[in-house]
Amino acid sequence: MECSHPSFKENKCTRCNLPIADCGNPATIPFRYIDDNLSITVDEVKRVRDVNMKFLTENKKLHLVLDLDHTLIHSMKIKKLKSTDKETIKNIKYDDVFEIKLSNSEYVLKLRPGAREFLDMVSSMFELSIFTIGKREYAHQVVEQLGGLSRFSCVIAREDCLKTRQKTLDLVLSHKQTVLIVDDTEQVWEKSCKENLITIKRYDFFPIKEEGIVVEMDKELDRVFEMLREVHSLFYDGNNEDYGMKKDAREVLKRVLIGRGLSCLSQEQHQEEDQKKLGKCIEKGVEVCRVKRLKIKFNGAWLENPCVPTKRLDCLGEERVNNEDQKKISESKEGSSVAMSRPKRLRITFNGVVQKTYCVPNRKRYKKTHEVFNSSCLV
Ligand SMILES: [Mg+2]
Repeated sequence: MECSHPSFKENKCTRCNLPIADCGNPATIPFRYIDDNLSITVDEVKRVRDVNMKFLTENKKLHLVLDLDHTLIHSMKIKKLKSTDKETIKNIKYDDVFEIKLSNSEYVLKLRPGAREFLDMVSSMFELSIFTIGKREYAHQVVEQLGGLSRFSCVIAREDCLKTRQKTLDLVLSHKQTVLIVDDTEQVWEKSCKENLITIKRYDFFPIKEEGIVVEMDKELDRVFEMLREVHSLFYDGNNEDYGMKKDAREVLKRVLIGRGLSCLSQEQHQEEDQKKLGKCIEKGVEVCRVKRLKIKFNGAWLENPCVPTKRLDCLGEERVNNEDQKKISESKEGSSVAMSRPKRLRITFNGVVQKTYCVPNRKRYKKTHEVFNSSCLV
């Protein structure tokens, strides 16, 4: 049988050993995280993804790509650690602070609150991969503290990137419609991957803050887990019986974001014709055709109406609360209200681009809810 030349190692076909030039120089992608000298043809990558998609859907799973730094952990070179922090680490027996030794440096790393539980919970719904801009040696050592390499289908690091400091799903062996990403840095992802992305608030532990000594209030992984669970459940447990090959996790994610963020749509802002389209779109979670304006309601007060610049609607609001107020919120009782000290700004991102910041009226009382203070303050 004729060789299909699916992959090449050191420019020779891994099956028939012919040089790549004699195989018609097919388009290939380097998969250095599998082998330093391995490249796989675009056709073979597609075939592998098809097989993986079948496996995922049969097992009711999706593929989750996770970032490391500031998403699941925070690390610091030990030599840069403040002496008071060294003392604190020595005196308090953290069960989620580790030291790792690399060939030329030593790091101390702290798991984000809930990281272990998060990984346990998502692994029943997702095949897991790591994608970090950190070096491979570092990534592998960190992964050891997160349950080991066997827990993840792949660990992609700096050496594996196709472009410097840019992440792409081209290196992930699953079709994009089955992939979700959780990362604290949106900019590092190639534009075509933004629809797969759930951004998580950056996690910093060092230098150790006072609250870090007692108990950290970071609940971001809980929030993200709820979103992931919702996407997974809509993807697999919806009414569509033909789930799998036809469904798209990006569309489902969009629908979840809209559901969480866009009850802010003010129907009276739209022409009757547009209203119909808009309603239909939200229901189906597809593109909005002619939305012109959004009306944002925050804590009962209408804010400005930002223009919606393009046809795509995956609007998310993000509130920026300063540390002082964040502390007040953390210390308040669940369900209670907190008087904020000064005007806050509301930032609207649209298709990944910050559109405008809006001033939030001063001295309003803000109800403490998980939603409001994490990602979605559009109510
Ligand atoms: Mg990061």
